[in-house]
Amino acid sequence: MSIVWMSSMRDTPTPPRSGASASETSNVRHLQQQVDRLEMICEAMWSLLRDKVGESDEALMAKVLELDLSDGQADGKVARGPQKCPNCNRPNSRRHEFCIYCGQPIRKSAFG
Ligand SMILES: [Zn+2]
Repeated sequence: MSIVWMSSMRDTPTPPRSGASASETSNVRHLQQQVDRLEMICEAMWSLLRDKVGESDEALMAKVLELDLSDGQADGKVARGPQKCPNCNRPNSRRHEFCIYCGQPIRKSAFG
């Protein structure tokens, strides 16, 4: 396995639908530039991690699959549902910093 899938995603952009306004086309172009930049940063970070820590592409892909399956579906998306309180195990909205049931501080993920 390899990280070629990242590059392959970039090679198949969705063409703007016919009738898209110039503003919509510009927004799509801007978003594509942002995706390209994020992909480049992600690949650079992975290269550093792989080279300095010695992780493998297989380990990366296993983690990607684990994250993908965290919502029960292997659909290429990360759905961020409620988070469980580490104290009472009840679900809380991700916007809360403290459990609404017991007041326990809830650790926020760096990715929301
Ligand atoms: Zn709680």
